[in-house]
Amino acid sequence: MNNLWSTYVPKLQEWSHAHPRPLPWKGIRDPYRIWLSEVLLQQTRVEQGLPYFERFVRAYPTIADLAAAPQEDIYKLWEGLGYYARARNMHAAAQSVVEEHNGVFPDTYEAIRTLKGVGDYTAAAIASFAYDLPHAVLDGNVYRVLSRWFGIGTPIDSTEGKQEFSRLAEAILDKNNPAAHNQAMMDFGATWCTPKNPQCARCPFQNECVAWQEGRVAELPVKAKKLIKKERFFVYIVVKKGGSTFLQQRLEKDIWQNLWTFPALEPEELPTTLGEARALFPPEWNEIPIVSLSKPFKQILTHRLVQAVFVVVDWQESLTTFLTNTQPVSWAKAAPELPVPRIVEWYWNERNQLFIA
Ligand code: SF4
Repeated sequence: MNNLWSTYVPKLQEWSHAHPRPLPWKGIRDPYRIWLSEVLLQQTRVEQGLPYFERFVRAYPTIADLAAAPQEDIYKLWEGLGYYARARNMHAAAQSVVEEHNGVFPDTYEAIRTLKGVGDYTAAAIASFAYDLPHAVLDGNVYRVLSRWFGIGTPIDSTEGKQEFSRLAEAILDKNNPAAHNQAMMDFGATWCTPKNPQCARCPFQNECVAWQEGRVAELPVKAKKLIKKERFFVYIVVKKGGSTFLQQRLEKDIWQNLWTFPALEPEELPTTLGEARALFPPEWNEIPIVSLSKPFKQILTHRLVQAVFVVVDWQESLTTFLTNTQPVSWAKAAPELPVPRIVEWYWNERNQLFIA
């Protein structure tokens, strides 16, 4: 393994010096900020996550500030990032640092790993970046680089693959400088050895890269299962009463837990005409005037494709039961006053168009 190390590490360091990638959290040692950047950037492109990082640091300069914040405020700041379970875990982790660690971020891999929402990758990133502990990070970028360098076709999402790549990542870790090494591995994957159009033609690893030598770059890394996306359809009922409409919090363990949406029906498919929309209504709504039916809106989540239409109706007595547990919000405001999923936000921005009347 020593051999492996000496083949790859010096070249990687050289590449890294020649291709610096400045990011606001780079080089900082504050474990809170490192953790925050990791949480905000999971499943998110750096350019998209960056303003969120800056906003969170400004609003909550310390982990105690974050722990003490009302969940609604955190959701509001998080809006647009999706994956709200991460926001919940982040809040819970901050509270456990305050309550169980006297507000001091834990400083061992094992203790960091026990925080809610922190997996192997995030724990290794914090342990190495904040405390220079010798733990190799293994994110999507590192998987790709390793699978190509060593020509490994074991699926990266299999148990076997995870173990194999984890051993390899540890074997080539520069234990004298784990923070710089991990950062260089991730940067190399993110900017050079990319999923599409990697820089093979001018890559310093051409001689060592098995995928390049064997013409297998495009087929590596291998994934066992492609994500199966299930479709869900929502018909949101936008009830207008004076200058208000009504939102309902999604409390059940489902997508968008704790976010607010218009109360909804969930049919097998979306209505495309006012008649089809009315056919979904219960009989006691027969007299309710339908004002408009929106075009379909689409949002792609990790395992779901959500499609929705929005039916605007005028308030009538017969809607009272349907509107139990809702909260009135001002229809005139530029943005909803409560945290909502993106699909609702998109509709909100276009809500004054009549769509299909
Ligand atoms: S030669 Fe291509 S596939 Fe191999 S490490 Fe370089 S960029 Fe990646």
